[in-house]
Amino acid sequence: MALDSESFLPDAEDCAEAWRRSRWDEGLYCPECGSGQVQTRQENYRDHLHRYYCEACGKWFIDTTGTFLEASNVSLRRWVYFAREMDKGRAAEPIGEEIDVTKKTARRMAKTMRQALHAQREEWLSKLSGEVEADDVHVKGGQQGRDVSEQEGGRAARMRGLSERGRGTYAGDRPLVVSWVERGGKGRVFELRRSAGKKSLLSSGLSHVEEGSQVDTDTWSGYRLLGEVYQHRSVKHSEEYVSEEGAHCNTAEGEWSLFKPWWRRFRGIAKRYLHLYLSHHSFRRTYRDWSRIERTQAMIGFLILGVFW
Ligand SMILES: [Zn+2]
Repeated sequence: MALDSESFLPDAEDCAEAWRRSRWDEGLYCPECGSGQVQTRQENYRDHLHRYYCEACGKWFIDTTGTFLEASNVSLRRWVYFAREMDKGRAAEPIGEEIDVTKKTARRMAKTMRQALHAQREEWLSKLSGEVEADDVHVKGGQQGRDVSEQEGGRAARMRGLSERGRGTYAGDRPLVVSWVERGGKGRVFELRRSAGKKSLLSSGLSHVEEGSQVDTDTWSGYRLLGEVYQHRSVKHSEEYVSEEGAHCNTAEGEWSLFKPWWRRFRGIAKRYLHLYLSHHSFRRTYRDWSRIERTQAMIGFLILGVFW
């Protein structure tokens, strides 16, 4: 009955073919010596992976040799399934249960994917430009940085114009997450800031937004330095949604409404991993026009390219 119990997984042959398209996109070569003088000797060595022989150095290898999958006991189709379910915004453990791996393995798989995505964000995250909105929330970390959930009161308090904001710090377990959102464009960036000061917000902007862009924010003082490199406009949220000159953060507001329910699923994240989760969310939101299959394939591609094994 093993076949039946795996029928919910993506087809092994499709997965192996997609893998080869990513892995050998610049041609088949020997991972040992780099030679292209390679013969395919077996087409279904295991799970439809090919086995090859290098004529130059005499070594045998398969499609996964020299990648993270070589050392993994989890099959490729399970990795693909896992990546696809993660893309839905699910947490690692319940997915792991479905594919019959331990909680520990599931957490490690998720971490490997997030690390690969984060390390290669320059490949998929280009600088935002044009009309950009910046906004922020504090996320709450509990004891020892665990039990992280969105800090409900913080944002509401700020919306009422109280001076609560900016006090939360990385060290104090209330780190700031800033979002940069391209209005009418695809770019979405969610980034952890270790401090909530003006310089920190400016440096985040310089990392993700082209100089000279128009940036709309609310009137919080943390955004005060943005005017030095951007056409900065601000809207006083306690009094208006759109300023007289047309500044608003409606697109960013819409993003938080998606961010918050996603974020709540990940209670218990150690603080030092928060940035990895945020990169994953930035990827999902930036490529929201792609199909889930396209995003999943891209994730597997980042794993192939990564150096995490
Ligand atoms: Zn070789």
